[in-house]
Amino acid sequence: MNILLIGIQGCGKGTQAKLLEERFGWKHITTGNLLRENFENKTELGIIAKKFMDAGELVPDKYVFQIVEDALAKVDEGSILDGFPRNMEQLRFLEKNFTIDKVILLDLSDEKAIERVSSRRNCIDCKKDYNLLYHKPKVEGICDVCGGKIVQRDDDYEDAIKKRIEKFYKETSEVITYFNEEGKLIRVNADDPIDTIQANIIKALDV
Ligand code: AMP
Repeated sequence: MNILLIGIQGCGKGTQAKLLEERFGWKHITTGNLLRENFENKTELGIIAKKFMDAGELVPDKYVFQIVEDALAKVDEGSILDGFPRNMEQLRFLEKNFTIDKVILLDLSDEKAIERVSSRRNCIDCKKDYNLLYHKPKVEGICDVCGGKIVQRDDDYEDAIKKRIEKFYKETSEVITYFNEEGKLIRVNADDPIDTIQANIIKALDV
């Protein structure tokens, strides 16, 4: 099964995708992480993309298509797309040779999203996620798993978050409308505990 998780920043797409990946073996494809990996590996694409990401802007489609094409080519059992497609051009690109079976919209208010995202932190080495509100590291600033330094993403500051949310409504709402008209859209409340959200997703997917 190929599913798409969609929702504003901070709605928990990444967390839910990881849980689904562990349970069903579907491959989690997240364009945000693929772009960040490219930057860490100092690829030309990653260096160009970083400027747009830091400004809270979408990375131009031609760069995103390159990484998505590679990732989709490796899909076998199923996949969970997270962060792609974000606009109608990306949707058209995807639908040329790929079928999305169901779309889960994780519903969250803007206020809650800003609060969650600005408290988000990651280990610089193993990338483990933390949140200063819900899931702090045992020792401040140090990763529980590998002892690496815990940092805030360059685009997780309030101004950049607001800009990304604005972009979401402007660009991605058309994608949501499209899937709704196709009868593939399922809304799930993203303000519930993680386990409840996961259970609701699984129930909605009927798997
Ligand atoms: P995310 O981790 O999904 O919040 O994405 C972080 C940033 O990566 C976004 O603000 C964009 O700059 C870039 N990005 C991620 N996915 C896409 C996409 N599908 N199209 C364009 N830019 C993207």
